[in-house]
Amino acid sequence: MEREELRRRLEFYRDLGLTTLYRREKPAPATMAAAPEKVAAKPAAVPALIPLPSLEPEGDTLLRIREDIGECTRCRLHEGRHKLVFGSGNEQAKLVFVGEGPGADEDEQGLPFVGRAGQLLTQMIEGTARKEGIPLTRPDVYICNVVKCRPPDNRTPLPDEMEICGQFLYRQLQVIRPKAICALGSTAAKALLSTKDGVTKLRGRWHRWHDIPLRVTYHPSYLLRPYNQDAKREAWEDLKTVLHFVYD
Ligand code: URA
Repeated sequence: MEREELRRRLEFYRDLGLTTLYRREKPAPATMAAAPEKVAAKPAAVPALIPLPSLEPEGDTLLRIREDIGECTRCRLHEGRHKLVFGSGNEQAKLVFVGEGPGADEDEQGLPFVGRAGQLLTQMIEGTARKEGIPLTRPDVYICNVVKCRPPDNRTPLPDEMEICGQFLYRQLQVIRPKAICALGSTAAKALLSTKDGVTKLRGRWHRWHDIPLRVTYHPSYLLRPYNQDAKREAWEDLKTVLHFVYD
């Protein structure tokens, strides 16, 4: 494998949260002379083959990613799912918002951010754009989540669920290649930046997802809580920064 290809592959696995890689020993070549009972008594030390996700296929498209997801049963989240929530918006968006995972309304409609948090997100995008003189409405951006199926009782997605679904988020972002990404809340930040830091620590500065500038802000659900007025103001500031960066 070429050096550059190897680097891209390692970055891809790191983005999926796979930070430890094991070298697989080559199985000893089977010899005609080996007695069958000896082989059975001492099996070759070959770990079970785990099919690792491939990098984005050549000529990848959002349609192809959706088809590859199919009626997904790759993790336990499919068990309680009504509708898979792939993402919505402009496929050539300059700005992508990434949330955590669908809630009840999204699970029912198959669309991201359509519940109360979604309405707030729409207000934040369109209100800030209007105030800043930027001609932008929600359909101009793209919105998706780290996991595509609703976690039971809206719990935080588990690391293996994020890892399994992460391959599709990776492909979505690679296909759209926006000018900037806005991570909504700490789950999205964790998935995209491989960090344990929370929003308070991460917001207010630029990060990168691969070579794409990324900003972290509060999740709209957090902003709906009445005692988070300071966070609300900060989130509006974050959005203002992102919108000017992308659309000026
Ligand atoms: N919260 C999210 O993180 N995503 C949605 O789509 C809805 C609520």
